[in-house]
Amino acid sequence: MAGGSTLNSFQIAQQQLDKAAAALGLDPQVTAVLREPTRTFVLNFPVRMDDGSIRVFRGYRVQYNDARGPTKGGLRFHQDETLDDVKALAAWMTWKCAVVDIPLGGGKGGIVVDPATLSEREKERVCRGWVDQMWKNIGPRMDVPAPDVGTTPQMMGWMMDEYCKRVGEYTPGVITGKLVGGGGSLGRTAATGFGVVVTIREALKVLKIDSKKSTVAIQGFGNVAQYAAQLFVELLGGKVLCVSCWDRGDKKAYTFSKDSGVDGKFLQSITDQYGTIDKAKAKAAGYVIEDADAWLSKPATILIPAALGNSITADNVSKIQDTVKIIAEGANGPTVPEAEAILLKKGITFVPDFLCNAGGVTCSYFEQVQNDMNFYWTEDEVNKRLDDKMSAAFRAVHEMAQTKKVDMRIAAYMVAVERVAWAMHMRGWI
Ligand code: NAD
Repeated sequence: MAGGSTLNSFQIAQQQLDKAAAALGLDPQVTAVLREPTRTFVLNFPVRMDDGSIRVFRGYRVQYNDARGPTKGGLRFHQDETLDDVKALAAWMTWKCAVVDIPLGGGKGGIVVDPATLSEREKERVCRGWVDQMWKNIGPRMDVPAPDVGTTPQMMGWMMDEYCKRVGEYTPGVITGKLVGGGGSLGRTAATGFGVVVTIREALKVLKIDSKKSTVAIQGFGNVAQYAAQLFVELLGGKVLCVSCWDRGDKKAYTFSKDSGVDGKFLQSITDQYGTIDKAKAKAAGYVIEDADAWLSKPATILIPAALGNSITADNVSKIQDTVKIIAEGANGPTVPEAEAILLKKGITFVPDFLCNAGGVTCSYFEQVQNDMNFYWTEDEVNKRLDDKMSAAFRAVHEMAQTKKVDMRIAAYMVAVERVAWAMHMRGWI
């Protein structure tokens, strides 16, 4: 999902689709169907604020393609949200659900607001207001939102409640990312990091690298990175050389490393809810604190960018050592195309973002399945199923890359686009 400079995010998404469609030799009429979202909702709805005034909020929902099943995708609360961003994210969700072969289409939504400017009660009324507008067009068989930037499991609970009141029956599967005990699934918190580690395990296998002798350097220490760091050690027996994070106080990023290996659980215990590690406590525990980019120049086998988009660029790509064999993109769009081209020439294997970080949506799908059955799995059952899905997805993409002699990112698009096109064909749309 890495982007260019002058195109907006939706044009970039269309360009990526065009590339995959050309490599597949897809009928241009089929590509034309896939280049635009099926349904786009633009909402303007009033909400009563705490001071008694009325404020109009703008919301979006894009149901990009539902050939393979109900559309699925997060709901963002962000002041800079645009319709084109939501359309691009909905397209990427379509390919993400298809590449992990879960029977869902892609969607995305948003409300133009900075959630930090709202009180808890105002947030609740905005959530209920969005459902008030959308409830006839969402549902477990239609479109299933989830938390994303600026939204929380509590907000999902309010939205589920509002939907249930409208339809007159308990329908937890309308939304995922709910709290455990309120319709949520065990394993969801760690799911994206778990999926990152499963795809790394599969990549190490095909490259014939011993996981116990492999090392990793991680950018970020939020939800994805914290569990990737812990599970890389627990499940694969490797060593974490460093993690990095944004320091909210100093307004800059730092890298935290330790020669004997980073202890993810310990660092998690001294990290705040925004992913900032307490420097004094880390130093006292023997961690070396270096500058922001230090994670990139570590002599690791694997790099996991798990913080931001556009973090490996043409300017810093030369810092990457020859020891690096795999880049597992935990974040969305961490590698800009110029840097990717250089790294591919060096023979580095990418696990592209929408494959690497698909563990979260896969677990959301499991949540919905459990809601439908009204029967809940143990954490081990969730993880076993997640492992099966993620490793099968990796193998399908790797096989496509080998057969068609393309890189892993194009191969992932080809697998996904082919599956969506096939579903449209089966339904007689094309
Ligand atoms: P998060 O907000 O929990 O954590 C982000 C982390 O990045 C924090 O530790 C923060 O300090 C760090 N960070 C921010 N700027 C930095 C910088 N300049 N240098 C180093 N570190 C920096 O986010 P998350 O949920 O872990 O998501 C990380 C990425 O993964 C995002 O791109 C997100 O879109 C993607 N993703 C997340 C999920 C999920 O389930 N959480 C699923 C798919 C994709």
